Formats: sequence, C-alpha cells, structure tokens
Amino acid sequence: MTKINENFLKLQDNYLFATIKKKEREFKEKNPSNSIINLGIGDVTLPIPGEVVFSMKRASEEMGKVEYFRGYGPEQGYEFLIDKIIKNDYSDRNIDLRKDEIFISDGSKCDISQIINIFSRDNKISIMDPVYPVYIDSNIMDGRTGKYLEGKYDNIVYIPCVSDNGFMPKIPQEKVDIIYLCSPNNPTGMALNKKELKIWVDYAIENNCIILFDAAYEAFISQSDIPHSIYEIEGAKKVAIEFKSFSKTAGFTGIRCSYIVIPHELKCISSLGKEIELNYLWKRHQATKFNGVSYITQRGAEAVYTKLGKKQIDRNIKYYKNNAKIIKNGLEKLGMEVYGGINSPYIWLKIPNGVKSWDFFDELLNNTGVIGIPGVGFGTCGEGYFRLSSFGTKEDTVEAIKRIRKYFNSKREI
Ligand code: PLP
Repeated sequence: MTKINENFLKLQDNYLFATIKKKEREFKEKNPSNSIINLGIGDVTLPIPGEVVFSMKRASEEMGKVEYFRGYGPEQGYEFLIDKIIKNDYSDRNIDLRKDEIFISDGSKCDISQIINIFSRDNKISIMDPVYPVYIDSNIMDGRTGKYLEGKYDNIVYIPCVSDNGFMPKIPQEKVDIIYLCSPNNPTGMALNKKELKIWVDYAIENNCIILFDAAYEAFISQSDIPHSIYEIEGAKKVAIEFKSFSKTAGFTGIRCSYIVIPHELKCISSLGKEIELNYLWKRHQATKFNGVSYITQRGAEAVYTKLGKKQIDRNIKYYKNNAKIIKNGLEKLGMEVYGGINSPYIWLKIPNGVKSWDFFDELLNNTGVIGIPGVGFGTCGEGYFRLSSFGTKEDTVEAIKRIRKYFNSKREI
C-alpha cells in the first residue's frame, strides 16, 4: 500500500476555532435572546477600498478584450506592481532593492509555510511562544520536529514571550539556524523597535543564521521607532527574508496578494561548501510550484499605492486603530493588564487572578456574550492570556466593552 508522509501524524488537532464555534452554538441555543459579539476575529471586516475595486473592474474588462488579454503571468509578479512596492515600501524609506528581489504571491501564509522548502532539514529552528501557528505546523509537516510533549515539540527552540519580558523575544541560549520573528506580533501586539531588532540582525550576522521576518501587521505601526521593514536595520539584507501582505493592510484577505523579499546578498551554504543565493532557490521554487497571482488581483494591489488608494486605506486602518483604543482604554479602566493595540490590531489581555484562558473564555461568553481567543491556543506561554481583536465594527466594539465593564464592575461589588 502507498505510504503517507508520517510527519502529518505529528500535528496536533487544531481544536481552537472548532471549540470556539461549538461553545458559541451552545450559548446561542441556551440563550436565544442574548446577542453574541465576536472580538476574536483575525479577519478584516471593512470592504476593500473603492480605488482597488475600480482598478480590478478595469483589469477584468481588459481581460475580455483581445488586444489586452493576458494568459499566464510572470511567476514573480508583474513589474507594474513590483515597481510600486519598491518605490513606496522601500525607496521612500531609503532602502534600495532590485526588482528581482521581490516576489509577488497569493498570501504570506503560503510564503511562510513554503519557504522552508529551500532549507535543509538539519537546520535548527527557533520560534516565539505564543506564535502564529503556521510557523510550527509547516515545520512539522516538513519533518523538522521531534516528539510532542507538554505543548512543545522536540527540536524546536522556543522563545518564551511573556509579560515579565514585555513579550520581547530574547536571543536563544542554544545555537539556531533559522529564526522566525513576527513584528508587530500576532497574538501579543508587541513590536520590536529599531534597537531591539538590531540585536537580532547582529546576532544573525555573527552566528550565520537566517531571520524569517513576518511583517503582516506593519500597516498598524503607530510609533516612529518601530521599523516597517527589517531592511531599515543595517546588515539585514545579508540575513533576513521579509514577508509582507496586503491582507490586513488593504483588506485583501479574500482577494489574496502578498510579497516576499529575498535580497541577493542573502546566501547559505551547500553540502559541498558552496555559497548559494536564496533568491535563486526561491525563484526556482516559484517557477516550478507557483503560477503567479492573477493580473486582476495585481492591478488591485497596485491601486493600494495610488494617492486615493492610500487615503482610503489609511481611513480603514484608523477605524481599526480606534477600535483598538476603545478596547484598550475600556479594559485599563477596569484595572486590567493590557498589552498591544498600539502598533497592532490585537489586544493581549493578562487574565486577572490567574484564571486560565479557556475558563476566562467561558466566563466572558456566559456573562457578556463576548467572544475572544484563549491565549493558550497560540502556545503554552499564551496560557493565562486572552486575545481581543479590533477588526469588528465600532458599534460592536463599544457594546462589547460596555458589557465587559458592567460585568466586572458588578462582580467587584458582590
Ligand atoms: N502572518 C501572521 C502573523 C498572520 O497573523 C497572518 C494571518 O492572519 C498571516 C501571516 C497570513 O496572512 P495572509 O492573509 O497574507 O496569508
């Protein structure tokens, strides 16, 4: 009989969202007149900006005309979009990049989970805890992890990020080869400033390792000392691959467009001791395994960089940031310990009185009808924390915080 990839059997069942859905259903059945407010969502809710819609419509019409029709596009992406990315996201920040150092793709999730194909399985990886689960699961599927014990896999170096260290990742004691960094962070909302990120870049240079830098939430940065790109740090081109996405920036979660940057300076070694450019390997990877992002989508992404497009996107981001402020201020007024929400759409709440994440989930749902995400769903270090998202509507956000404050204030009076 044909054999399977046994590594898939090492994956833990992801009960997080299924369990949340089940609990939501049960609550609705028991309390049909109580409304539920979901502040757990990691998806945008505002529609894509008008400029993007207009541009995609025009591109669709072009595809229906023989003189403009386009078939397979370049796997690496159309030059018109790459040019806009280089100008707006890099040149304007004094970062020089060449066109062939950018690869357009259909989502950071795909890029992050596939990039490991170009690295040897012998590499030791290091991951922050709590973490966006794709980093770990893609390595499990690829056979880089050992046994699973008490919420952790052998052969992964976990970097605990807890309130005691301000959720800042600390350089691991053990030698590692590949480091995943996510800043601004999902789920903690922490963002590394230039000084903090420089420590990682210097470490990677000194120790010959690679940083996989996930900047999916870069558009939410408010503070001026937080870098929007790892290449703002000197030397980073020699050690870092950067992942950026239009998903949260421009509401593209349903349209799908992202990009990855692999500078030519970034090199690793073959078993024969030869230095090889990772850019070359990824280009080869994409040419074989990827057909490129649709022309219509890339025209939509291009519109993100127009004057009007930028204005519309800015308005949407401000809307979510205002929601984040409402959540943060509301919880702080209750005396709660709250993190994130300044450079990130996520608020990371330290649950009071040592209550566990799932118990807090139940308490909040049953007493306020508000849903969030139990922190333990992002890793063992997330236990005791709770993620709330600013991606809901303003009305829902205001109402949710009103209910939470009413409940916790009344609890104190008892
Ligand atoms: N990176 C992080 C930290 C995320 O939270 C997400 C999505 O939620 C992604 C990457 C993936 O984004 P995309 O929609 O581009 O696949």
